[in-house]
Amino acid sequence: MQVYRLSALSDNYIFLLHDPQYNVAAVVDPAEATPVLQHLETLDAQLVKIFNTHHHWDHVGGNQQLIQHFPNVCVYGGKQDRGRIPGQQVFLEEGDEVEFADRIGNILFIPGHTKAHIAYYFPSPQRDVPGELFCGDTLFAGGCGRLFEGTPAQMVDSLSKLRSLPDSTRVWCAHEYTLKNLQFALSVDGNNPDLQTRYAQVRAARQRLEATVPSQIGIERLTNPFLRWEQPALQSAVKSQESVQTFARLRGMKDRF
Ligand code: ZN
Ligand code: FE
Repeated sequence: MQVYRLSALSDNYIFLLHDPQYNVAAVVDPAEATPVLQHLETLDAQLVKIFNTHHHWDHVGGNQQLIQHFPNVCVYGGKQDRGRIPGQQVFLEEGDEVEFADRIGNILFIPGHTKAHIAYYFPSPQRDVPGELFCGDTLFAGGCGRLFEGTPAQMVDSLSKLRSLPDSTRVWCAHEYTLKNLQFALSVDGNNPDLQTRYAQVRAARQRLEATVPSQIGIERLTNPFLRWEQPALQSAVKSQESVQTFARLRGMKDRF
């Protein structure tokens, strides 16, 4: 399974999964159809699946047009997104599986950003091949999504699931927010040497107009303040000694950053 990252809208990423053996493709969160159709043409591949993480327009905006081009495409999304995802045919919940190419994807229910948000996690099939995590707007490189429909406790639960994945797991998040996220991270965790190193790397990458996605779970665990609610430095930055409260206060500060 080959993963291609396509840029869309102002700062969204769409992920195109390609199965070279049968020359078919699946797409994760098509914000818009045009970049997907163009890349499918380059590959000369048929689109067979749309995997949506949640119902926001910048994740499902291309569904309808892709369905028009590929009437047999199957549209997947969270069970609780029924009625909110254009063309949805499969209603997924925690523990369900999806198939693509030679890989099986596990569904993780990760509410918080929205009440129905899911992730698609394709575990490593063999040594030297990383697992792939498509986590929409829940976990970002250096940050996390805003809480539109969920509580801090739900988001802590959801992020706990994601941070327990193997360190080598590639994190395909749906926006290029990394530099801004790490600027906030430094404001609350400035003595973290891993964070300082990462910030310098990301700043240089963005100056070269390079993408910072995918990230990896291992680096997120070391540097992302929204996975580090039990770290003393972060607890003292927000004057709390409790995980959910620490997370909630960090999220509130980031909303105003
Ligand atoms: Zn969203
Ligand atoms: Fe989004």
